[in-house]
Amino acid sequence: MDRELPDRARVVVIGGGIVGTSVTYHLAHLGCDVVLLERDRLTSGTTWHAAGLIVTFGSTSETSTQMRRYTRELYGRLEAETGLATGLRQVGFIELATDEGRLEEYRRVSAFNRLCGVDVHEISPGEVKEMFPLARVDDVLAGFYVPDDGRANPVDVTMSLARGARLKGARIVEGTPVSAVLTRQGSVTPTVTGVRTPRGDIEAEYVVNCAGMWARQLGEAAGVNIPLQAAEHYYLITEPVDGVDATLPVLEDPASYGYFREEGGGLMLGLFEPVCAPWKVDGIPADFSFGELPPDWDRTAQYLEKAMQRIPVSMDVGVRKYFCGPESFTPDLQPVVGEAPELRNYFVAAGLNSIGILTGGGLGRALAHWIVDGRPDIDVTGFNIDRLHRYQNTPAYRAARTVEALGTVYKCHYPNRSMRTARGAKLSPLHHRLVERRAYFRDVSGWEMPDWYAPDGVEPIAGALSWGRQNWFPYWEAEHHATRNGVICMDMSFMAKFLVQGRDAGRVLEHVSANRVDGDSGIITYTQWLNEGGTLEADLTVTKLDDDRFWVVASDTAHRHAETWLRRHIGDAHAFVTDVTGAYAQINVQGPRSRELLATLTTTDMSNEAFPFRTAREIDLGFARVLCVRITYLGELGYELTIPTEQALGVYDLLVEAGDAVGLRHAGLKALSSLRMEKGYRDYGHDIDNTDSVLEAGLGFAVALDKPGGFIGRDAVAAKKAAGPLTRRLVQVRLTDPEPLMFHAEVVRRNGMAVGYIRAASYGFTLGGAVGLAMIDADRPIDQSYLDSGEWTVEIGAATYPAVTSIRPMYDAANERVRS
Ligand SMILES: Cc1cc2nc3c(=O)[nH]c(=O)nc-3n(C[C@H](O)[C@H](O)[C@H](O)COP(=O)(O)OP(=O)(O)OC[C@H]3O[C@@H](n4cnc5c(N)ncnc54)[C@H](O)[C@@H]3O)c2cc1C
Repeated sequence: MDRELPDRARVVVIGGGIVGTSVTYHLAHLGCDVVLLERDRLTSGTTWHAAGLIVTFGSTSETSTQMRRYTRELYGRLEAETGLATGLRQVGFIELATDEGRLEEYRRVSAFNRLCGVDVHEISPGEVKEMFPLARVDDVLAGFYVPDDGRANPVDVTMSLARGARLKGARIVEGTPVSAVLTRQGSVTPTVTGVRTPRGDIEAEYVVNCAGMWARQLGEAAGVNIPLQAAEHYYLITEPVDGVDATLPVLEDPASYGYFREEGGGLMLGLFEPVCAPWKVDGIPADFSFGELPPDWDRTAQYLEKAMQRIPVSMDVGVRKYFCGPESFTPDLQPVVGEAPELRNYFVAAGLNSIGILTGGGLGRALAHWIVDGRPDIDVTGFNIDRLHRYQNTPAYRAARTVEALGTVYKCHYPNRSMRTARGAKLSPLHHRLVERRAYFRDVSGWEMPDWYAPDGVEPIAGALSWGRQNWFPYWEAEHHATRNGVICMDMSFMAKFLVQGRDAGRVLEHVSANRVDGDSGIITYTQWLNEGGTLEADLTVTKLDDDRFWVVASDTAHRHAETWLRRHIGDAHAFVTDVTGAYAQINVQGPRSRELLATLTTTDMSNEAFPFRTAREIDLGFARVLCVRITYLGELGYELTIPTEQALGVYDLLVEAGDAVGLRHAGLKALSSLRMEKGYRDYGHDIDNTDSVLEAGLGFAVALDKPGGFIGRDAVAAKKAAGPLTRRLVQVRLTDPEPLMFHAEVVRRNGMAVGYIRAASYGFTLGGAVGLAMIDADRPIDQSYLDSGEWTVEIGAATYPAVTSIRPMYDAANERVRS
């Protein structure tokens, strides 16, 4: 390692665990001048004691699966490059399914993982027994086997990465804690200028916080929100066991909370207990190095026993070590990665949720490209740091949510599962009224939002989770039809809302928006915000209220991303962004009878002529003046009402009272999902992401290529258009059999060939079957004749179902209902 502390580097990486070392390795390979500073010694945080499972199977995220595959491949080739072995042993991996829910899950995951290049096979209980003779298989339904997976030695991997980084010119300095990140105030956001250490300052253009479980505290000192939390994490190592040697595959049995592999001739039995224990919510000690925690036998014994029953011999041999060490977990089990919204050039890669060794290689690669290229080359919508909010960083929130996080890793990942801890963080002003209406609530970026409503006399209780129809399916269906045929109200207060004001507000918004947004006042415009590469950064609406006042609405998951994107493009212009999300409630009144309902309550002329589609007016409703926008995300005539929070209840009560006469129903987010999916409306972070060109996403209609002054990404869009017809395109997919359900990651085939997967799906009650959006790749232009000339199928679990596909929306392609 290096002894000298340089006084300058382009990038300073903080933390020499697997993640920081991998980021440094990849930056060095991109020719970047990089210094890694480690507080103590490399691996002294969490990395030294990881079990090192290398498992490419199991994720329905394309990004995560690609990162796992890349990591395995990297660890396989590092020794040849650096001369230091990584301890990678591709002994094989077996996942056990012991109940129907998991069997269905792993079959779905297998199909998707195979599409992503993972060589996974379903095997019989007998085959499991042959490969892992010590396992009890009497209750096993199937195994899922990946021959090339296995295990690596985390310390050896880190040392090999460090050697590889140094060979490419990186400097690695141990025994040097970063005490502060230095900044200067920019015109809108402060920017990183370097770091402070007890040995002196280093000037730097970029800083990357890879400080593992310390990352939160380090971030906080610079005003950066990194809501991760350490939790106890366990494995037990037995005395040597006959028949166990280093060729034994890795076995995982999530239903028993355990995984098993060889260690020193005995067994390592790792735990993911369903109820876990956060560690040091008030702060991680600065001097905790190569540390262990005293195991809590009382709390964990019951889980350990259950896991041991899978390998009965483990109950008969002696225990060599019951190890407990801390690992970082995040509120949604996704890592915290990317540039901090609060501080320019401050990047973070932390919160690995117990897969830091497994994904460390891929994560380091991705982050290095992100820094050097200025934007990521993979879909980061699921793990971008800016998805997280400050409320998630309170001690109470972290303590509550982390109890659930670790155990969720081994739960059956049914669709419609929602975290149950740390609930009630944000309540809409209508909340208590909606409780009275028997809403079933789900966590929407911290907001308690109605998912569906139970009918009169029925308690809003969701039945057992399943891959099929749950008890609320008919209630959802009724809400869906009420929207198509009558009128509904939907609380959408969780939507991110921004007031953009100033002399230059219109000019700034024109520059960031691909569509024309600064035309006439009183018009709402659907637009994307693009990066210079012409791929998507945000998908939202801009309403021009006045020459110097605009109303911007984005989805909850894009809240901080959209806000940061806009703020960072203001420069010296006279424009100011205010987040007014909590200051206004949003109630959507939608359906063919919505006009009739509102007309009874306001003095404004609601007729089609006076109040056409895409217009926005301030209207009176009782004692309130409300921004009413005629727009829809559900595919019907409809209005979105933005109401000052303190008047929202009054307006809601008026609507409900008058609503009786026109059959007003309440509808939840399940209905939103099925209605928008029938119409093919996109949802950023679900079916479109930062890697999609606006044209491939099918949103070219919202791009004003020749508007005066252009916009960010214009040249890339123009070049893509000029390059000819698209061979990659987002298409709508519907199953012709009304029975099966789609959720996400189902493989789509044309004439038997896999061409893509379902990014998001719902059930189309009007179309009569499951419907979703899939990004399709082809070797020739994708147009409707290409779609019509193929035989389409979708692979769901072990079955394959016929499907139809379309470029135009399958529901009301001509927009007649919307404009009626
Ligand atoms: C029991 C157990 C089993 C596990 N098994 C697996 C497994 O099988 N597979 C898998 O993929 N993952 C596993 N993990 C998880 C894995 O260990 C972590 O995800 C990974 O090590 C996290 O790496 P990191 O680099 O983010 O953090 P760390 O390894 O903690 O590295 C952070 C580094 O930052 C340094 N640092 C902190 N503050 C500063 C500062 N101010 N200045 C300079 N340096 C600083 C620390 O000293 C530390 O070295 C396991 C974890 C545990 C606890």
